[in-house]
Amino acid sequence: MVSLLLKSCPQTAASASLESLLEMLNLGLTSYESESAFNKSTRSLQVFEETGISHSEFLHRQHAEEGGGPLGGPLKYPNSCILWLHADQSVLDERLDKRVDDMLAAGLLDELRDFHRRYNQKKIEENSQDYQHGIFQSIGFKEFHEYLITEGKCTPETSNQLLKKGIEALKQVTKRYARKQNRWVKNRFLSRPGPGVPPIYGLEVSDTLKWEESVLEPALEIVQSFIQGRKPDAAPVKMPYSNTENKRSSHMCDLCGRIIIGDREWAAHMKSKSHLHQMKKRRRLDSDAFTTIGSQSISPDRDKELEEKGSVGQNDEDLKSSV
Ligand SMILES: [Zn+2]
Repeated sequence: MVSLLLKSCPQTAASASLESLLEMLNLGLTSYESESAFNKSTRSLQVFEETGISHSEFLHRQHAEEGGGPLGGPLKYPNSCILWLHADQSVLDERLDKRVDDMLAAGLLDELRDFHRRYNQKKIEENSQDYQHGIFQSIGFKEFHEYLITEGKCTPETSNQLLKKGIEALKQVTKRYARKQNRWVKNRFLSRPGPGVPPIYGLEVSDTLKWEESVLEPALEIVQSFIQGRKPDAAPVKMPYSNTENKRSSHMCDLCGRIIIGDREWAAHMKSKSHLHQMKKRRRLDSDAFTTIGSQSISPDRDKELEEKGSVGQNDEDLKSSV
């Protein structure tokens, strides 16, 4: 919409800032939200202009390409290799905790207080704070909410306790995020090996004293071999998976009314929340049918749910449960 406006009146667009344009449109969005909405709509219009198909259709086709999957299209650079640094979970957790402590020592609290005073305090007073959107949802701010709003208004002991609570929450969420990143590598690359998926070379970074021999040297050897078209000494990481597994097989789930492609995805679907929910519902309906003669076998909100989830393909829940 914004982009159409820009095109239809270039004169206005040239002189008006994004903010005043949005004021004109009176969308009632914050500048961060409006910028994000602006970027999204511009990209969607650009895709339509270049390809003649909708942005969602474009993404759908991209994911269906060779080497693409539910987590994205094929790689931008076809001849790639990936170096994956990984450490023992306990070592990594310890490092992440230390990183938070280092951030605190480097002045994180002053930065948070300053940000809170300038951008957050007023919103809280107006009761319009929303930690689900924009910059406010980023890791490292919302965890200190209680501490920031009560600082100076409660006893030093309480304040100190709230600070400790915030620090602990920040450490937890940082560690959770690191696990999520590792899961992403496993899901995107390791669980779906194929022609469009680059080799992943694991480098062990648990012991930093052995950095040169266990990280730097093997990394250089891998990259050099790769550039020269040789096979590196190291073997790429492989996830154990069944050879008999068929990635293109299609399965129809009558219960959910969905077609699921691939054995692995099918196995994940059977365990997914959405499927189990449908199963529960079906059981409930079946038991109702015993008591109500001539009852309808389809619940009224079933179609609505399917619409919301998208009927074909894989959803987030399936992915999560395949981790
Ligand atoms: Zn199902």
